[in-house]
Amino acid sequence: MKPIIIGNWKMKLNYQQSKTLAQELANLANPVDTSNNDIVVCPLHSAFLLVKEILKDSGIKMGVQDIFWEESGAFTGCESPKFLADAGCQYAIIGHSERRQYLGETNEWIHKKIKGALDNGIVPILCVGETFSERQQGLTDYIILNQVIKALSGIDLVAGEELVIAYEPVWVIGSGRAIDPAEAEQAFRVIRQAVIDLWPLTIVETNVRIIYGGSIDASNFREFIDLEYFAGFLVGGASLSSQEFWQIIKNI
Ligand code: PEP
Repeated sequence: MKPIIIGNWKMKLNYQQSKTLAQELANLANPVDTSNNDIVVCPLHSAFLLVKEILKDSGIKMGVQDIFWEESGAFTGCESPKFLADAGCQYAIIGHSERRQYLGETNEWIHKKIKGALDNGIVPILCVGETFSERQQGLTDYIILNQVIKALSGIDLVAGEELVIAYEPVWVIGSGRAIDPAEAEQAFRVIRQAVIDLWPLTIVETNVRIIYGGSIDASNFREFIDLEYFAGFLVGGASLSSQEFWQIIKNI
C-alpha cells in the first residue's frame, strides 16, 4: 500500500494559527500528487471545517484527533463519527497515548471507537506503544500485542474498509529523539502478526497500514522508510512546520 503521512496538530494551534498552517500546506501542495502517498492532517475539532475549506483542492485529507463511538444522543461534549463523516472527516486518531495517559482512555473505549469509525466510513488510526517503564521490564512486545488485540478482536475488517496502526513508543513522543529503527521494525512485525491472526492475509496486505510515530522530523525520517512493513508516519511536532512536514512528504 502507498505510505500515509499524518500530521497530528494536537492542542497546539489556535484558530488563527491553524488557518495559517493550512494555507501554507495548501500552497505547497498546489495540489499534491496523491498517487505516491496519502497525506492527512488532524487539527482540533474547533478548526476542522476551516482547515477543510482551505485544503479542499489540495489533495490533503482531513482527520480528527479523537471521536466518540455513538452516532447521536445525549453525550455532552462528544464528537459523533457519523456527523464527522458528514463534515468530510476521513480519518480519526484513536487511542493516542496522551489520551490513554491523561484522560483514562481504556482499551474497551478504543475498541468501540474503532467500530464507530469503521461503521461510518472513517479510517481509524489506532495508536499503540509501550511506556518507558514497560520497556524496562521487557514488556514491549506484550503491551503492543495486548493493545492491538483488545482494540481489534471481534471486528471484522472487510474489503473496502481500511485501518492504520501507528506504533508510537510513549517515551519517545515529543522527546526529540526517535527510536532505533530496528526496534520499530520489531514492533511492526508484532503488529502485523497480530492482525494476520485476526483477518485474512489478503485483507491485511491491502487494507492495513502499519506506521511509526515518535519524534519523526526532517532529519531522521529516512532511517525508517526502508523498514520491512513500513507504511508511513504519524508526525506530531514536526507537522506544525509546513516546510518540515513537506520535506518528509516529498521524500517518501
Ligand atoms: C504524536 O503525538 O503522535 C507524535 C508522534 O508526536 P511527536 O512527533 O511530536 O513525537
